[in-house]
Amino acid sequence: MEKLIIAGSGPAGATAAIYSARALLNPLVFEGPAPGGQLIVSNEIENYPGFESISGFELLAKFKAQAEKFGARFESASITGIEKNGDVIIVKTDDGRAIETESLIIGSGAIARRLPIETEPLFYGKGVSGCATCDGAFYRNSKVLVIGGGNTAIEDALFLTRFAAEVTIVHRRDYLRADPIEIEKTKSNEKIKWLIPYTIKEIKGDANGMVAGAVLSNVETGEDTEVECEGIFTAIGHIPQTDAFKDVIAMNDEGLINIEQGSTKTNIPGIFACGDVIDPVYKQAVIAAGTGCMAALDAQKYLEK
Ligand code: NDP
Repeated sequence: MEKLIIAGSGPAGATAAIYSARALLNPLVFEGPAPGGQLIVSNEIENYPGFESISGFELLAKFKAQAEKFGARFESASITGIEKNGDVIIVKTDDGRAIETESLIIGSGAIARRLPIETEPLFYGKGVSGCATCDGAFYRNSKVLVIGGGNTAIEDALFLTRFAAEVTIVHRRDYLRADPIEIEKTKSNEKIKWLIPYTIKEIKGDANGMVAGAVLSNVETGEDTEVECEGIFTAIGHIPQTDAFKDVIAMNDEGLINIEQGSTKTNIPGIFACGDVIDPVYKQAVIAAGTGCMAALDAQKYLEK
């Protein structure tokens, strides 16, 4: 019987592992299909306190080493499902195990929805980014595109005008999901341009394999336009990685786990959630780490009882 299993090894899961390992709970961390989560693709992080500049890979390696130093155990398997049997939680893994545990922390993260075009994977992390807050500062005096028509797209576009020379919002419909008050803010900003209704058809690269432009298609006329840009920021939604827990844990229609206000408690005693699986707004590493800490403290309190 394990005392504590943690799903996910991004900032949320790793911080939960550090705290619970220091509390001598000997946590077992399942890293999941993408160890480290979304942060691993960030080439340079400048907004994680304590690090002026660090790659996602390096930061995650530090998290892991710190947790292991205190006794956390990391395994590369993924959790495929859970069951509750009285006070015991049974965690099933993709390598065929069914492990009993007294408590579980779900920090399995989310993935930014990716552009469904053939050339996108070639440029992800090389000009294509799903996080303007993380990568915007690298695009000083550049031309960038923001894809999407929700509040995130508008917020990202406004944020990017701090750095970029020109920010073009590309949206596939002639109406937006974003709140009118947010849209209004873009009108007084000369750096923001709109291409509506357009979809992105192809990404063009330079000799170094970095983004250099895109082919956009007018949804109404079918006509293609080629634009120059150094960055393409996608703001087309996030997908929480919570499928494995959906039969047991209460969540909303988008797969975000419901938690008791002011804590990380889910609807099931002994199961806690942290990071992007509970966060509809901020989606930042430092926030995920903060709620990871909360989940470890909540689990600790639960186990003491
Ligand atoms: P949304 O789901 O609101 O918007 C996603 C956008 O991406 C939509 O315009 C959608 O287009 C578009 N999209 C989806 N898939 C594709 C695709 N394959 N190709 C092109 N476009 C695509 O997500 P957000 O992240 O913007 O917002 C999530 C939630 O967070 C919302 O509730 C939002 O209000 C909230 N939020 C609030 C903020 C605030 O209050 N300050 C800031 C940011 C977010 P379509 O419209 O055609 O479906």
